[in-house]
Amino acid sequence: MIQKTVDVVIIGGGPGGLNAALVLGRSRRSVVLIDAAHPRNEVTYESHGFLTRDGIKPFELRELAHEQMKKYSNVTLIRGVVKDVLKEKQQFKTMTETEDVIFSRKVIFATGLKEDIPSIEGLQDVYGKTVFSCPYCDAWEHRDQPIVLIGNTKQLIHQIRLIYNWSKDLIVATNGPAMLNQKEKLELNDHNIRLIETPIEKFKSQNSMLEHVVFTDGEMIHRKAGFIINTGATQASMLPQKLGVKLNEKHAFETQEHGKTKVSGLFIIGDAAKRFTGLIGAASEGYETAVFLNKELVEEDW
Ligand SMILES: Cc1cc2nc3c(=O)[nH]c(=O)nc-3n(C[C@H](O)[C@H](O)[C@H](O)COP(=O)(O)OP(=O)(O)OC[C@H]3O[C@@H](n4cnc5c(N)ncnc54)[C@H](O)[C@@H]3O)c2cc1C
Repeated sequence: MIQKTVDVVIIGGGPGGLNAALVLGRSRRSVVLIDAAHPRNEVTYESHGFLTRDGIKPFELRELAHEQMKKYSNVTLIRGVVKDVLKEKQQFKTMTETEDVIFSRKVIFATGLKEDIPSIEGLQDVYGKTVFSCPYCDAWEHRDQPIVLIGNTKQLIHQIRLIYNWSKDLIVATNGPAMLNQKEKLELNDHNIRLIETPIEKFKSQNSMLEHVVFTDGEMIHRKAGFIINTGATQASMLPQKLGVKLNEKHAFETQEHGKTKVSGLFIIGDAAKRFTGLIGAASEGYETAVFLNKELVEEDW
């Protein structure tokens, strides 16, 4: 059981929280970072699009960060789950499930989102392995392969055009009547893209490698990869709401510039604030917020 007082508590040790810890550590701030270690992308084998780290395993990125952080003795990393945060006059009191209690002047939430994928048989087995939600993260590896795009939103036609950028061997499965007008349906025809509106029964795979999508009318199509539109991710932690920060219509926490919130001393960064920052975007927000927050502390102490 740990009990201490520090300048900043960071909740969440993904790229957002870790980069904030690094910059605050280098700013001579005492920092405690508490992380439950269940990042949004934990189901994937590889992460892409982060300069110098393209193809890295999600936890390898974190291990490298932990290793580099060792030289900053003013930064403490704790593996655990924060169960509550209270604002008491000028300080925050952060409590973990294992009864650690940390008092701090500022708190950064970098708690991310958790995926909420549709409950279709077999989807869990392939999600993050050969079926994904973010083409910028994973479509390159499946370029020119037989791909299925799964989902149905008002933005459907734009998603179809986007995935077609990586593979022209594309089938769209809307799992019900498609939200496409007649002109858009003709567009698919012109591009040789098949539209299947019949509900999906299951995904068939071998060792997480997608092989077939089976529909309720018995049809089975061969596909090697898939993309899902709108996986319905939810906040990993609702504690900011308890502290007075509202969720906007996209179910992201309302923030201002530099991750500030309307609660003085409370910051929110990464996916929790933007719904999707990507790894490098979250890391960048961690840097920006740390710089701003350190400046606030400098001014307060002058
Ligand atoms: C399948 C999939 C693949 C992806 N692939 C890529 C990719 O290739 N490239 C890319 O750039 N992006 C990718 N992403 C997106 C990327 O994962 C996120 O944008 C990024 O992780 C956001 O970083 P973050 O720091 O905001 O949150 P996260 O990385 O999700 O970290 C949040 C951390 O906070 C912890 N936490 C939450 N609540 C608490 C609590 N109460 N107490 C303590 N800790 C808590 C969580 O356990 C987690 O460790 C992918 C996403 C998915 C779903």
